[in-house]
Amino acid sequence: TRTSRPQRILKAVQRKATVGDPQSVITAIDHFCRHREWAMNVGDEKGSILDSVVNEVSPVTVLELGTYCGYSTVRIARLLPPGACVITLEFNPDYAAIARQVIKWSGLEDKVQLVEGASGDWIPWMKEHFGVQAFDLVFLDHWKERYLPDTKLLEECGLIQKGTVLLADNVICPGTPDYLEYVRNSPHYNSQYYRSHLEYTKAEDGLEKSVFLGY
Ligand code: SAM
Ligand code: MG
Repeated sequence: TRTSRPQRILKAVQRKATVGDPQSVITAIDHFCRHREWAMNVGDEKGSILDSVVNEVSPVTVLELGTYCGYSTVRIARLLPPGACVITLEFNPDYAAIARQVIKWSGLEDKVQLVEGASGDWIPWMKEHFGVQAFDLVFLDHWKERYLPDTKLLEECGLIQKGTVLLADNVICPGTPDYLEYVRNSPHYNSQYYRSHLEYTKAEDGLEKSVFLGY
Protein backbone atom coordinates (compact mmCIF):
# COMPACT_ATOMS: atom_id res chain seq x y z
CA THR A 1 0.00 0.00 0.00
CA ARG A 2 1.07 3.58 -0.62
CA THR A 3 2.51 5.51 2.25
CA SER A 4 1.52 9.08 3.06
CA ARG A 5 3.87 12.07 2.87
CA PRO A 6 4.02 12.41 6.67
CA GLN A 7 4.93 8.71 6.90
CA ARG A 8 7.74 9.28 4.40
CA ILE A 9 8.93 12.30 6.41
CA LEU A 10 9.02 10.12 9.55
CA LYS A 11 10.99 7.45 7.63
CA ALA A 12 13.53 10.10 6.61
CA VAL A 13 13.91 11.10 10.26
CA GLN A 14 14.38 7.48 11.35
CA ARG A 15 16.96 6.92 8.61
CA LYS A 16 18.95 10.16 8.94
CA ALA A 17 18.51 11.67 12.40
CA THR A 18 20.03 10.76 15.75
CA VAL A 19 17.70 9.91 18.63
CA GLY A 20 17.77 12.73 21.17
CA ASP A 21 19.30 15.24 18.75
CA PRO A 22 16.63 17.79 17.69
CA GLN A 23 18.94 19.58 15.24
CA SER A 24 19.53 16.35 13.33
CA VAL A 25 15.74 15.84 13.10
CA ILE A 26 15.27 19.38 11.72
CA THR A 27 18.09 18.88 9.22
CA ALA A 28 16.72 15.51 8.07
CA ILE A 29 13.23 16.93 7.46
CA ASP A 30 14.55 20.03 5.66
CA HIS A 31 16.78 17.89 3.44
CA PHE A 32 13.92 15.54 2.55
CA CYS A 33 11.49 18.38 1.83
CA ARG A 34 13.95 20.43 -0.20
CA HIS A 35 15.25 17.59 -2.34
CA ARG A 36 12.49 14.98 -2.40
CA GLU A 37 8.99 16.17 -1.56
CA TRP A 38 7.79 19.65 -0.68
CA ALA A 39 5.82 19.76 2.58
CA MET A 40 4.14 22.51 4.60
CA ASN A 41 6.72 22.79 7.43
CA VAL A 42 7.78 26.34 8.28
CA GLY A 43 11.17 25.26 6.86
CA ASP A 44 14.74 26.34 7.49
CA GLU A 45 14.65 29.93 6.21
CA LYS A 46 11.53 31.10 8.09
CA GLY A 47 12.53 28.65 10.83
CA SER A 48 15.57 30.75 11.70
CA ILE A 49 13.28 33.79 12.14
CA LEU A 50 11.04 31.64 14.36
CA ASP A 51 14.13 30.63 16.36
CA SER A 52 15.16 34.24 16.94
CA VAL A 53 11.65 35.21 18.11
CA VAL A 54 11.55 32.24 20.52
CA ASN A 55 14.97 33.25 21.87
CA GLU A 56 13.94 36.88 22.22
CA VAL A 57 10.63 36.12 23.99
CA SER A 58 12.14 33.35 26.12
CA PRO A 59 8.62 31.99 26.76
CA VAL A 60 7.46 29.77 29.58
CA THR A 61 4.22 28.82 27.82
CA VAL A 62 3.88 28.53 24.06
CA LEU A 63 0.80 27.67 22.03
CA GLU A 64 1.25 26.33 18.53
CA LEU A 65 -1.74 26.10 16.20
CA GLY A 66 -1.11 23.41 13.55
CA THR A 67 1.42 20.67 14.33
CA TYR A 68 1.52 18.68 11.07
CA CYS A 69 4.62 16.43 11.47
CA GLY A 70 6.02 18.31 14.46
CA TYR A 71 8.82 20.11 12.60
CA SER A 72 8.15 23.57 14.07
CA THR A 73 7.23 22.00 17.41
CA VAL A 74 10.73 20.53 17.58
CA ARG A 75 12.27 23.86 16.50
CA ILE A 76 10.43 25.69 19.28
CA ALA A 77 10.79 23.06 22.03
CA ARG A 78 14.55 22.67 21.55
CA LEU A 79 15.02 26.34 22.49
CA LEU A 80 12.88 26.33 25.64
CA PRO A 81 14.47 26.64 29.07
CA PRO A 82 13.82 23.98 31.73
CA GLY A 83 10.23 24.10 32.97
CA ALA A 84 8.84 25.75 29.83
CA CYS A 85 6.53 23.93 27.45
CA VAL A 86 4.71 24.12 24.15
CA ILE A 87 1.11 23.04 23.72
CA THR A 88 0.53 22.16 20.07
CA LEU A 89 -2.86 21.55 18.45
CA GLU A 90 -3.49 19.25 15.48
CA PHE A 91 -6.91 18.07 14.33
CA ASN A 92 -5.76 15.42 11.86
CA PRO A 93 -5.18 12.20 13.86
CA ASP A 94 -2.83 10.72 11.23
CA TYR A 95 -0.59 13.80 11.36
CA ALA A 96 -0.74 13.84 15.17
CA ALA A 97 0.44 10.21 15.30
CA ILE A 98 3.44 11.04 13.09
CA ALA A 99 4.25 14.19 15.08
CA ARG A 100 4.29 12.22 18.35
CA GLN A 101 6.99 9.96 16.91
CA VAL A 102 9.03 12.85 15.49
CA ILE A 103 8.89 14.66 18.85
CA LYS A 104 9.84 11.46 20.68
CA TRP A 105 12.76 10.87 18.30
CA SER A 106 13.99 14.37 19.14
CA GLY A 107 13.86 13.59 22.86
CA LEU A 108 11.61 16.59 23.51
CA GLU A 109 8.43 14.82 24.65
CA ASP A 110 8.75 16.30 28.18
CA LYS A 111 8.50 19.84 26.77
CA VAL A 112 5.59 19.18 24.41
CA GLN A 113 1.90 18.63 25.01
CA LEU A 114 0.36 17.52 21.72
CA VAL A 115 -3.41 17.98 21.74
CA GLU A 116 -5.52 16.25 19.13
CA GLY A 117 -8.45 18.42 18.17
CA ALA A 118 -9.65 21.60 16.51
CA SER A 119 -8.38 24.95 17.75
CA GLY A 120 -11.89 26.42 18.08
CA ASP A 121 -12.94 23.53 20.32
CA TRP A 122 -9.80 23.49 22.49
CA ILE A 123 -8.95 27.16 23.08
CA PRO A 124 -11.88 27.72 25.50
CA TRP A 125 -10.61 24.81 27.67
CA MET A 126 -6.91 25.75 27.83
CA LYS A 127 -7.04 27.39 31.27
CA GLU A 128 -9.08 24.67 32.85
CA HIS A 129 -7.34 21.74 31.19
CA PHE A 130 -3.71 22.86 31.26
CA GLY A 131 -3.73 25.42 34.06
CA VAL A 132 -2.18 28.13 31.88
CA GLN A 133 -2.73 31.77 32.84
CA ALA A 134 -1.90 33.19 29.43
CA PHE A 135 0.55 32.34 26.65
CA ASP A 136 3.86 34.15 26.22
CA LEU A 137 4.10 33.14 22.57
CA VAL A 138 1.50 31.88 20.07
CA PHE A 139 2.65 30.44 16.75
CA LEU A 140 -0.19 30.50 14.22
CA ASP A 141 0.32 28.03 11.39
CA HIS A 142 -2.98 26.19 10.90
CA TRP A 143 -5.60 26.87 8.23
CA LYS A 144 -5.33 30.49 7.23
CA GLU A 145 -8.99 31.48 7.64
CA ARG A 146 -8.73 30.45 11.32
CA TYR A 147 -5.98 32.94 12.28
CA LEU A 148 -8.36 35.82 12.93
CA PRO A 149 -11.24 34.00 14.66
CA ASP A 150 -8.80 32.05 16.86
CA THR A 151 -6.94 35.24 17.81
CA LYS A 152 -10.21 36.83 18.88
CA LEU A 153 -11.12 33.65 20.76
CA LEU A 154 -7.74 33.68 22.56
CA GLU A 155 -8.38 37.32 23.52
CA GLU A 156 -11.89 36.52 24.82
CA CYS A 157 -10.58 33.59 26.84
CA GLY A 158 -7.94 35.80 28.50
CA LEU A 159 -5.09 33.78 27.01
CA ILE A 160 -3.41 36.84 25.48
CA GLN A 161 -1.99 39.30 28.00
CA LYS A 162 0.24 42.36 27.86
CA GLY A 163 3.51 41.25 26.26
CA THR A 164 2.11 38.14 24.55
CA VAL A 165 3.72 37.71 21.14
CA LEU A 166 1.73 36.33 18.21
CA LEU A 167 3.87 34.97 15.39
CA ALA A 168 1.92 34.12 12.25
CA ASP A 169 3.31 32.08 9.36
CA ASN A 170 2.29 32.28 5.69
CA VAL A 171 0.85 35.77 5.91
CA ILE A 172 1.68 36.31 2.22
CA CYS A 173 1.53 32.79 0.79
CA PRO A 174 -1.17 31.42 0.96
CA GLY A 175 -1.92 34.71 2.78
CA THR A 176 -4.08 35.84 5.69
CA PRO A 177 -5.44 39.26 4.64
CA ASP A 178 -8.16 39.62 7.31
CA TYR A 179 -5.71 38.70 10.09
CA LEU A 180 -3.03 41.12 8.82
CA GLU A 181 -5.52 43.95 8.55
CA TYR A 182 -6.62 43.27 12.14
CA VAL A 183 -3.22 43.13 13.84
CA ARG A 184 -1.78 46.00 11.78
CA ASN A 185 -4.67 48.36 12.51
CA SER A 186 -5.52 47.43 16.08
CA PRO A 187 -4.23 49.89 18.71
CA HIS A 188 -3.69 46.87 20.97
CA TYR A 189 -0.92 45.33 18.86
CA ASN A 190 2.47 46.44 17.69
CA SER A 191 2.93 44.48 14.47
CA GLN A 192 5.92 43.87 12.25
CA TYR A 193 6.50 41.89 9.04
CA TYR A 194 9.52 39.63 8.54
CA ARG A 195 10.04 39.12 4.85
CA SER A 196 11.23 35.69 3.77
CA HIS A 197 10.26 32.91 1.35
CA LEU A 198 7.69 30.16 1.26
CA GLU A 199 9.26 27.02 2.71
CA TYR A 200 11.65 25.31 0.28
CA THR A 201 10.87 27.77 -2.57
CA LYS A 202 11.83 31.22 -3.86
CA ALA A 203 8.29 32.63 -3.64
CA GLU A 204 7.82 35.53 -1.24
CA ASP A 205 6.23 34.71 2.09
CA GLY A 206 6.83 35.96 5.58
CA LEU A 207 6.00 35.96 9.26
CA GLU A 208 4.05 38.65 11.09
CA LYS A 209 5.06 39.27 14.69
CA SER A 210 2.46 41.11 16.76
CA VAL A 211 3.06 42.12 20.36
CA PHE A 212 -0.06 42.60 22.47
CA LEU A 213 0.18 45.94 24.28
CA GLY A 214 -2.76 45.52 26.68
CA TYR A 215 -6.18 47.16 26.63
N1 SAM B 1 3.54 24.18 12.11
C1 SAM B 1 3.90 23.05 11.25
C2 SAM B 1 5.37 23.15 10.90
O1 SAM B 1 5.82 24.25 10.56
O2 SAM B 1 6.08 22.14 10.96
C3 SAM B 1 3.08 22.99 9.99
C4 SAM B 1 1.59 23.06 10.22
S1 SAM B 1 0.64 22.81 8.74
C5 SAM B 1 1.01 24.24 7.77
C6 SAM B 1 -1.02 23.15 9.30
C7 SAM B 1 -1.63 22.04 10.14
O3 SAM B 1 -2.73 22.57 10.86
C8 SAM B 1 -2.17 20.86 9.36
O4 SAM B 1 -1.55 19.69 9.83
C9 SAM B 1 -3.67 20.83 9.67
O5 SAM B 1 -4.19 19.53 9.79
C10 SAM B 1 -3.73 21.58 10.98
N2 SAM B 1 -4.96 22.34 11.25
C11 SAM B 1 -5.61 23.15 10.38
N3 SAM B 1 -6.63 23.77 10.96
C12 SAM B 1 -6.65 23.35 12.26
C13 SAM B 1 -7.46 23.66 13.37
N4 SAM B 1 -8.46 24.54 13.28
N5 SAM B 1 -7.19 23.04 14.55
C14 SAM B 1 -6.16 22.16 14.64
N6 SAM B 1 -5.35 21.85 13.62
C15 SAM B 1 -5.58 22.43 12.44
MG1 MG C 1 3.28 27.50 7.58
